[in-house]
Formats: sequence, C-alpha cells, structure tokens
Amino acid sequence: MKPSDPQGWKLQHSYAELPEGLFTRVTPSPVRAPKLVMFNRPLAEALGLNADVLAGEEGAAIFAGNQLPEGAEPLAQAYAGHQFGYFTKLGDGRAVLLGEQLAPDGTRIDIQLKGAGRTPYSRGGDGRAALGPMLREYIISEAMHGLGIPTTRSLAVTATGEPVIRETTLPGAVLTRTAASHLRVGTFQYAAAYGGKDEVQALADYALRRHYPEGLTQEAPYLYLLKAVAERQAALIARWMLAGFIHGVMNTDNMAISGETIDYGPCAFLDTYRPDTVFSSIDRQGRYAYGNQPYIAGWNVARLAEALLPLLHEHEEEGVRLAEEVLHAFSPQYEARWLEGMRAKLGLFGAEAEDEALAKDLLALMAEQQADYTGTFRALTLRQQERLPMSGTEAFAAWESRWRARRERQHADDEAAAQLMRRSNPAVIPRNHRVEEALEAAEREDYSVLHRLLAALADPYAYTPEQEALAEPPAPSSCAYRTYCGT
Ligand code: AMP
Ligand code: MG
Repeated sequence: MKPSDPQGWKLQHSYAELPEGLFTRVTPSPVRAPKLVMFNRPLAEALGLNADVLAGEEGAAIFAGNQLPEGAEPLAQAYAGHQFGYFTKLGDGRAVLLGEQLAPDGTRIDIQLKGAGRTPYSRGGDGRAALGPMLREYIISEAMHGLGIPTTRSLAVTATGEPVIRETTLPGAVLTRTAASHLRVGTFQYAAAYGGKDEVQALADYALRRHYPEGLTQEAPYLYLLKAVAERQAALIARWMLAGFIHGVMNTDNMAISGETIDYGPCAFLDTYRPDTVFSSIDRQGRYAYGNQPYIAGWNVARLAEALLPLLHEHEEEGVRLAEEVLHAFSPQYEARWLEGMRAKLGLFGAEAEDEALAKDLLALMAEQQADYTGTFRALTLRQQERLPMSGTEAFAAWESRWRARRERQHADDEAAAQLMRRSNPAVIPRNHRVEEALEAAEREDYSVLHRLLAALADPYAYTPEQEALAEPPAPSSCAYRTYCGT
C-alpha cells in the first residue's frame, strides 16, 4: 500500500487472518463495458477516498471489478444460514470483499463488490446481479441511513454492459457495498457446523475486537458477545418497526453481528398499517411479515447462541442456562426500545404506565381504519389530524383526548414536544411506488427521478415541500405491492 495512493485507498485485511476455512481468495470477474451509474460522493469522502478521481473512468473500472484498487486482496467469505427455517451451507456466491478501508475517522469499513462474478460458493448461480435490484438496494440503504437506522451503505452502482438472465433478460450491474463488517449469524453457524470450537473462538475473538472491544476484558467475553449482539438486534428491530420497515428475508445469513441492516432483497416500507403485511413473493407462510420481525430476530439470536454454546461455559448445561437468560431478555429489551421510540413519535417525555396502551391503541385504530403508517404519524406531527381516515370517529376523539391529557401532564412545553415529533417521524420514506417510478426511469437511462428521490431521503426529517410531494401513499389500486426475489 502506497501511503499516497491518488484514489485514497487504505485497505487492510484483518478478516484474512482468520482460519482459512472461513474464506476463499478469489478475483472479481471483469465485465464487458463498465459504466458508473451511481456514485456516493459524501460516503466516498467520509471513507477518505478521492471522489473526483473515482467519479470517472477509474472508478468505473474499480467498482465493476475490472481493476483492483491499490492494496486489495479480494476474497469471498464462507457462511451458512437458516433460510426460511432450513439450515443451508452458503457463502458469498456473488460478492467479493476487496478489503477493509481505514477511514480518516479511524473506522474500519468493508468494501465489497456485489455481483462481481462466480465464486466457489456460487452453487448454481451466475455470480451476477441485475441493475434494478442493485439500484433498489442503493436507494433503500441510503434511505435507512438518512433515517438514522444502522445499515450497510452503497458507494457505487456500475452497469456491466452484460445481460443477466432471470425470469427475463435484464441489464447487469455491480453494487459496491460498505459495511462495518460482513460477519453474520450465519458466519458463526458455518464455523460451528464445518469447523469446530477453535474456529468459532477465533471468529468470536475477531467479532469482539472489531465490534465490541470492551467485551475483551470481561470475565466471560463470549457471553458478553452474545448479549451485545442481542441488545443491538433488539434496538435495530425496534427501529425497523418504528419506521414501518419490512426486511423481507430475515434468514440468519442476513443478520449482521455489527447490528447493521444488511442484504436488501425484497424489503419495503409499509404504506397501510397491517401487521401481517408480507412483501416478498417467496415468503408464502408470512414468516418474515412486518409483525413477526421481533420474534424472528429472537429466533436468529438463538441460532447464534447455539453456535457460541461451546464457548459459553465448560459445562454444556450451564452454557445453555446462560444462553437462555440472554434469550429471555430479548423480547423485553425489544419492547423497551420500541416503547421508547413510540413515546418520541408521540411527543412524550418521561414515562407513564399508560404510554404503552396509548401507543398500541393508536395502532389498533390505524389497523381498523386502514390508515397509512408513516402518514398517520406525519399528520399528528403537522397537527393535521383531520386528514386521517379515523378522524371524526368517537374512538379517535377519545384517543386524542387521552393523548392531549398525557402531554398536558408533562413539564415540556408544546414546542419541545413538536420538535421531538419532527425528529422522530419522517416526512418521507422510500415508498414502493416512488421507488418503482425511479427504477423505471433509470431503465430508460433517466436518473433524474432517482436523484430527486435520494435527495428527499437524505434528511427525511426536514419537512421540505419536495418531501411533501413524495410523501403521499399510493392510490389504492397499486397497494398490493410485491417484491420478487430474482435479485
Ligand atoms: P441473498 O438472497 O442475496 O441474501 O443471497 C443468498 C445466498 O445466495 C448468498 O449466499 C448469495 O451469495 C447467493 N446468491 C444470490 N444470488 C446469486 C447469484 N446470482 N449467483 C450466485 N450466488 C447467489
Ligand atoms: Mg444474504
């Protein structure tokens, strides 16, 4: 690594020091005609990269996998995972980790090319990705970042000039994804199933060093790791639920140890509030429905506990008991985080025993009246209750007077409550019909719609006129939205 690489790369490779069964060295497969269609300048700059240089042809070659950046030592990671409940051996079948960029702020960020060609973990797949789903991941991950929800991010999308064959023939693309790391629950499952205690321990030590260094000096570091991951997941899923986000494929390989949202496939945001909403066309049982996400997150953390079990205690029985303690705490932790967030959404300071009922009664009214989730909180924030479908009903009037009384009891003034609500209720989310509209324009090589959407999503709490124009829910006819998994 040259210290003065003009592109700004400072790549390191701590993951490659792990036991070799956990990865395979690979190189990205070059593509025919790389064209940089999206480039995230602010993110590039935060990573210490030279945005001016990388925004041009040099960037296209790098982000397509045609040329390796200075200091890259590419590899594909091995992992396993429970997919819809069934255990499968997986791994990066179409993703290549170039290395870990040391950013100017001292953080270590994975730089990964998704769609970079076949790897030893590709199974039957072509190793490639289609442009539409990669642009979709770009939009949604950047929207999550704007919302303040921990997430992997998107540095670039490069069109490959090659077709990919799915249900139809589609233009191909490579997404450059950045992440705190790509360690997954499924990485631990892989080490436990195909390695042994030593591999799991090496991985756990690595995860502690990288994400929970304060745990290294604990008396029981691996129990600490399990607890810390559980806490971050409880907090993350609470943020998803509060924002109306549905991940869509919460397989254990899609749950990051860092606590970031990862692997945007058939994800989407709720329009109408219906807890049983499922978007993914392949999720026939509704396993990953909106309302099921907290339960599934706990289930996934239990799979991590299983993988870590040999490290938790020398006596298995005691290890199981310790793990169960952590798992039993998951649901109350999630509930507490959710309620904290709901109080903020309703402009409530402090805590009263009735707050939970107040929040849940509002949700019940929303479900009954098929109210829009984000729109309801936005209307309450803007004091436009009269625009809500439940407005004028006796039940809603009763709820409103309880809400008013609760706010009158708190010491904060109205202005402080209003500000809290604005900070907690987005004016705009990436609604499915708006995302589709942006992708359709991009298909015609018109990226203006997508850029307008991204600009509005960068600070979703700004309440600008541009955001108002993008905030409306879809017409009822386009509500039965489905995302397909042919990504
Ligand atoms: P995902 O649904 O993106 O989380 O992917 C699940 C697993 O399938 C991962 O191991 C991916 O690497 C792999 N995979 C998905 N699409 C492809 C593809 N086109 N070629 C090879 N592997 C793939
Ligand atoms: Mg995945």
